[in-house]
Amino acid sequence: MKIVKVEIFDIHMESAPVWHPIILRATTDEGLTGLGEVGLAYGTGHSAGVGMARNLVEAFVLGADPFRSERLWDTMFRDSFWGRGGGPVVYGGMSAIDTAMWDIKGKALGLPLYQLLGGKTNENLRTYASQIQFGWGPDAIKAVEPQQYAEEARKAVADGYDCVKVDPVMYGPEGETDIRPLRGLLTTRELDCFRDRVAAIREAVGTDVDIILEIHSHLPASTAIQLARIWEPYNCLFYEEPVHYMNEGLHDLVARRVSIPTAAGERIYTRWGYRPYLEKQAITVIQPDLGLVGGLSEGKKICDYAHVYDILVQVHVCGSPVATAAALHLETAIPNFGIHEHHTRALYPDNIALCTTDLQPVNGIFAVPEEPGLGIELADDVVGRSPCLVLEL
Ligand code: MG
Repeated sequence: MKIVKVEIFDIHMESAPVWHPIILRATTDEGLTGLGEVGLAYGTGHSAGVGMARNLVEAFVLGADPFRSERLWDTMFRDSFWGRGGGPVVYGGMSAIDTAMWDIKGKALGLPLYQLLGGKTNENLRTYASQIQFGWGPDAIKAVEPQQYAEEARKAVADGYDCVKVDPVMYGPEGETDIRPLRGLLTTRELDCFRDRVAAIREAVGTDVDIILEIHSHLPASTAIQLARIWEPYNCLFYEEPVHYMNEGLHDLVARRVSIPTAAGERIYTRWGYRPYLEKQAITVIQPDLGLVGGLSEGKKICDYAHVYDILVQVHVCGSPVATAAALHLETAIPNFGIHEHHTRALYPDNIALCTTDLQPVNGIFAVPEEPGLGIELADDVVGRSPCLVLEL
């Protein structure tokens, strides 16, 4: 079997101009198709992701045997030149290609992907409602007042979730979106505002619901420690991306200075990138993004490597339903699964419409798709409205 065609969709949505999922579909000479996603739907760089995926496909994928996915990964790693250095663009492209090969393998064998990854270790995947500062539901809001945070958390709990995630500092005390003032130590007024938001959530949901705190790597270590200490009384599940990744020692510093377990990983690539974080045990929960870390092949290796250090896994999911499906298969198979992330974006109709299956948890619990491969297909009439590169052997 060999790959004879690859389409790369650079998704554009009128309703969300800054949101660009990049979905790759590979087709074999036997007519089987496989999907993968480059994890650059957000931030700046989707065009680079499309371009890198195109160059990798032209150089290594057309004519390749999808069953020899490990060899293909290693070839892309070694022979692209840039694979031996890293970053989200090259590993994003490799990720989409690798996951598409796994999707084809599952379809060729007639098995859902989790069966190829070790079978059903976890049948019911506990899921949290992610990023409630944007509101929990199909319409985005901007939560500023503590009561808004309480209200959005209540909506998630009403949907059956027993865990919510919030970035309490994304919007300033007056709703400012420029977070540059947070780069110094915070004033008492700012600390009171950020404490009140978390306190309002805890009061609204009670003690049967967990709260995850998310900082999006916005803060310097000193501020991250200062903030964590005001939140410690609210017994939060973990503290995500308190600092950025350019000095891994800062994660270690925060972990040693605060009592809330820390989480990170959506901007770390490959097993080599994870090595210092795991060896220093600087994080309690890793969050590999399967659209950036090197795909399902590399994601599985990293999860097993983390298991050596008793570190839990929550796959980072912020993309199209293809990203959700890939995460569900891996999380179903691994013994160190912690919790699954369901982003507010997964509730937006335009994002749901990209695929023919709407993947949603029931009462805060996800079940993995049971169809062969990833178990998800593109809605051609919808993705066909966006720019698409078609590369053929
Ligand atoms: Mg995050």
